[in-house]
Amino acid sequence: MTSERHFVIVGGGLAAAKLAEALRASDFEGQVTLLGAEDHLPYERPPLSKDHLFGKKDLADFVAVPGEWYRDHRIDVRLGTAVRAIDRAAKTVTLPDDSTLTYDKLALATGSAPRRLDLPGADGANVYQLRTIEDSDAILGLLSGTAKIGRLAIVGAGWIGLEVAAAARSAGVEVTVVESAELPLLGALGPEMGEFFAQLHRDNGVDLRLGAELAGIDADGIRLGDGTAIAADAVLVAIGATPAVELARAAGLDVDNGVLVDAGLRTSDPDIVAVGDIAAQDHPRLHRRIRVEHWANALNQPAVAAATMLGKPAEYDRLPYFFTDQYDVGMEYTGYTAPGEYERVVVRGDQAGREFVAFWLDAQDRVLAGMNVNVWDVTDRIKELISSGAPVDPERLADTALDL
Ligand SMILES: Cc1cc2nc3c(=O)[nH]c(=O)nc-3n(C[C@H](O)[C@H](O)[C@H](O)COP(=O)(O)OP(=O)(O)OC[C@H]3O[C@@H](n4cnc5c(N)ncnc54)[C@H](O)[C@@H]3O)c2cc1C
Repeated sequence: MTSERHFVIVGGGLAAAKLAEALRASDFEGQVTLLGAEDHLPYERPPLSKDHLFGKKDLADFVAVPGEWYRDHRIDVRLGTAVRAIDRAAKTVTLPDDSTLTYDKLALATGSAPRRLDLPGADGANVYQLRTIEDSDAILGLLSGTAKIGRLAIVGAGWIGLEVAAAARSAGVEVTVVESAELPLLGALGPEMGEFFAQLHRDNGVDLRLGAELAGIDADGIRLGDGTAIAADAVLVAIGATPAVELARAAGLDVDNGVLVDAGLRTSDPDIVAVGDIAAQDHPRLHRRIRVEHWANALNQPAVAAATMLGKPAEYDRLPYFFTDQYDVGMEYTGYTAPGEYERVVVRGDQAGREFVAFWLDAQDRVLAGMNVNVWDVTDRIKELISSGAPVDPERLADTALDL
């Protein structure tokens, strides 16, 4: 009699949960163990900076997969279990109590961790970050109830900083956002749409300090390099995240701003895959290596990783997609480009009225990415425009009288 094959998933976020689900959906009947460092079942993080901060949703509303499912599908979930090491030769992982588990196939889904500020005062009791439900609960406590604060300073005008700014303003808290770049979201969207988000926040009463150098944090708030003091009762540091690659690196896997994986999400060890925020993938459609820190990636990559673990050919070729909600703006972004890589941005619709689609075009007028703001059900059309690789007529693209 052959013993059951054992697939081990290291990580306790959306990607880990969806991988367990995908393995069972692929009729894998062997043993599956999910080892997660947090004390909660895997949950989705987008509500942590949105609905949860508005008191509209609680953890039970956004668990990735209901608890019964793991039980019903014989997934051995071990929470509060931060894996300490991987021994690729012995094919084992080391648990916190020094015991080991043997695997046949291993999946890494360790996600990312908030980038830390290396400045005086950065570890103060008034300094917050946002990655986990505990972090979100703490920030919710600042925005509501008896401990509600009057003034919040946010370091970093990225997605999380801006979403918390919106939640705080909605709660009537005074907000200052300090950003070293000349515009919010500059690296993600470029100056044209960075300016759109800057205006959105100014219109909602945020004191936006751009091109600002941070000198330090103290109990009274933050200090800028030019000597300006910004008074705040609490400080949120939201300066991005770094992929949790320590285990992979220590195990000798190829790592460079993420765990390097091929189109099928296989690492440099054929028995190990990586999914979600940590996976720096050789993307078959974009013909480049990208690492995507977004919900849709953690949701959809696991089906491909599961196939790879089961020895079936599969490639992850979806275009990056993400979304945000801030004030009265809901937006989705599909595709991939970066400042310096696109030629121009074409706006279709009413940008001032915050109902439009922006398209990023290359020098040959091919669509690289599209962002719909308060316009819905166009993601598939945007994907088609990008995937076709055909040049568009920018004037016709901008003309709302013509069907997209
Ligand atoms: C506040 C917030 C808001 C967001 N909003 C959006 C949004 O609006 N739209 C969007 O597209 N994306 C959003 N994201 C990004 C999205 O949530 C991430 O891309 C997604 O969570 C990635 O999932 P993951 O499973 O790869 O990693 P993670 O969610 O980071 O999960 C990794 C898990 O692995 C665990 N772990 C780490 N090391 C070990 C170890 N050694 N052993 C065991 N477990 C380990 C961690 O504790 C963690 O639980 C948001 C993220 C945050 C933090």
